[in-house]
Amino acid sequence: MKIVRETRVYCPRCNKHTVHTIRLYSKKPERGQSMGMRRRARKLKGYVGKVKGKATQYKISKRQKALLVCKECGYIVERVYGTRTKKKLEIKTQ
Ligand SMILES: [Zn+2]
Repeated sequence: MKIVRETRVYCPRCNKHTVHTIRLYSKKPERGQSMGMRRRARKLKGYVGKVKGKATQYKISKRQKALLVCKECGYIVERVYGTRTKKKLEIKTQ
């Protein structure tokens, strides 16, 4: 899916429509040894009841997210493009 580099959308901080540049979102890798991850791993290992967030079936497609950066104040808003899709977002260059 191709998207344009600049759009004019609403900025909550400026409280008006301003020009935003679009940046592709990339998730940072999780720290495996953080306290939350260790606790979660212990829970998923067993010996407790039903565990929240235990995925039984993995979804094939993903929701494509992009970041909109306000040119006036630099405020960043996340936006999801479309629904679940296999296609990846790419910024249109011309
Ligand atoms: Zn702004």
